[in-house]
Amino acid sequence: APAIVWFREDLRLSDNPALHAAVASHRPLILLYIHDEETDGLRHHGGASKWWLDKSLRALAGDIEAAGAQLTLRSGKSNEVLDAVLNVTGADAVFWNRRYDKPERDLDARIKADLTERRIDVTSYNGRLLNEPWAVETNAGGYYKVFTPYWKQARQCINARDTYGRHKTLNGPDVDSESLDDWGLHPTKPDWSTGFDDWTPGEDGALARLKEFLDGPINGYKDNRDRPDLDWSTSGLSPHLRFGEIGPLQIWRAVHAGMEAGNIHEKDGMHFLSEVGWREFSHTLLYYNPDLATENYNDSFQHMPWRTDETALDAWKKGQTGYPMVDAGMRQLWQTGWMHNRVRMIVASFLTKHLLLPWQEGEKWFWDTLVDADPANNSASWQWTAGSGADAAPYFRVFNPISQGTKFDESGDYVRRFCPELKDLPDKYLHAPWEADKATLKKAGITLGETYPKPIVDHSAARQRALDAYDTLKEKR
Ligand code: FAD
Repeated sequence: APAIVWFREDLRLSDNPALHAAVASHRPLILLYIHDEETDGLRHHGGASKWWLDKSLRALAGDIEAAGAQLTLRSGKSNEVLDAVLNVTGADAVFWNRRYDKPERDLDARIKADLTERRIDVTSYNGRLLNEPWAVETNAGGYYKVFTPYWKQARQCINARDTYGRHKTLNGPDVDSESLDDWGLHPTKPDWSTGFDDWTPGEDGALARLKEFLDGPINGYKDNRDRPDLDWSTSGLSPHLRFGEIGPLQIWRAVHAGMEAGNIHEKDGMHFLSEVGWREFSHTLLYYNPDLATENYNDSFQHMPWRTDETALDAWKKGQTGYPMVDAGMRQLWQTGWMHNRVRMIVASFLTKHLLLPWQEGEKWFWDTLVDADPANNSASWQWTAGSGADAAPYFRVFNPISQGTKFDESGDYVRRFCPELKDLPDKYLHAPWEADKATLKKAGITLGETYPKPIVDHSAARQRALDAYDTLKEKR
C-alpha cells in the first residue's frame, strides 16, 4: 500500500528525514501539503510569510515533478484532509517531521493517536533542529535558560550523521490536488508584493545562498555581522530555514567541511554556527514555554506600565519616527520582508523603551511582515530585546538609535538606501538630522516635519521615562 509524506515546515527533498524514511520503505508515495487555516488554535501565517509559502510550494511542486511525482495540495482541517486522502488511496502509513509550537504539537499528537488506533502507521522524525528541545538537559535535569552553557552542551549532543542526498526519483499515484492559484497566498494589494523579488524561495534558492555565503562572505562574519550597510554581512538564510527549504544539519556539515578544508576561518565558522545555535535555543524556550509569543517569560514584567499610543505605534510601523536608523529598518522590513539583525534589535528597543509600547505589538507586526517570521525566533528575540525573556538583554540597556547608527552604519549607505529623502545630508547629521542647521538642511532639500519627520520622542527624555517605568517594576518585585 502507498504511504503519505506530509510536508509541513520541511519543504525540501534533500536531507528530509521523513521523506528519506518513506522512500526507503519502497512504497508508492503520496506527497501531501495541507493548507490548514481551519483547525482551532493554529496561528496563521502573516502576509509576508504567505508570499514566501506560495513561492516555496511552487518550487517544491516543480522539484517533485522533475523527480517524476506530484505534490498534492489540499486545504482544510489537517485530520479531515488526511482521512480523505487515506481513504481514497488506501495508504496505510504516514511520515512527517516534527513541529515544536504547542498548537501544532497537540494537533500532531491527536492525529497520531487516532491513526494508530486505526492501525495506520505514523512515524515522525527530527528534520528541523540539530537537537530537539528535550535532548539537551542541564545536570540537574530540565532545560537551559542561559545561552552560553546551553550551546556548550548542545554542541556535544549533535548527531552529525551524514546528510541525506536529494531524492531524484520519486513515484506514487496521482491524487486530486487543489491549485495554488486558488489559495490566494500571493497578496495582490500591498505595495511590497513586487518588492520581494530579491529572494529565491525554494530548495534550490536555499542551497545556492548557502553556497554563495560559504564561498566567501562567511570569512569576516564575526567582524561584519553587525553591519546592515554591507551586502552579505549575514547569510540571509532565515526564511529558507523557516520553511525548511534547508535543514540546520546541512548547514552544520557544510560549515565544518569548509573549516576542515581550510576554506572557512574557524572563528567565523564557529560564530556563524552559534547563531544557528540561537535558533535552537529559541526553539527550546518555545517548547517549554508555549505562550512565549504573548506572555512575559519573566513574570515581573506583568507589572510593566506599558503605554497605549496608536499614533506612535503607527509611526514606528511606517518608519516615520524621525530616527533614521529606526526608520530605515522599518522600511527595509516593509519593502523586502526582512531586516538585518542589528537593526531588528534597534527598532525593537525603540518600540519597547523609547515608546514604552508592549513588545507583543512588535511581535505581531513582525509576524505579519517578515518572510522569516518564526514562532520560536520571533517570540524569543522580542522578549530578549524587551528584557522580559530568558537570558535577556537587561531592560536598562537602552539602545541609543543615534550612536547605533553612527557605529553600525558608519558610511550611511543603509540609511540612504531606505530613507532616500535624507541622502544628501552630510554623514555628520545623517543619524540625527534635527542637529543640522537650517542652511545644511536646505541644501540637502530637507524640511523637517514635511519631507522627513521630526523625532517623535526626545531621546534623553524617552530613555529616562523607560528607566523610571522599569524602576516601578523593580519595586513590585
Ligand atoms: P545569520 O546571521 O546568517 O544567521 C544564520 C541563522 O541563524 C539565521 O538564518 C537564523 O535562523 C539563526 N539566527 C541568527 N540570529 C538569531 C537570533 N538572534 N535568534 C534566533 N536565531 C537566529 N529570526 C527569525 O528567523 N525569525 C524571526 O521571526 C525573527 N524575529 C526577530 C525579532 C527580533 C526583535 C530580533 C532582534 C531578532 C529576530 N530574529 C528572527 C533573529 C535574527 O534577527 C534573524 O534570524 C537574522 O537576522 C536572520 O538573518 P540571517 O539569516 O542573515 O542571519
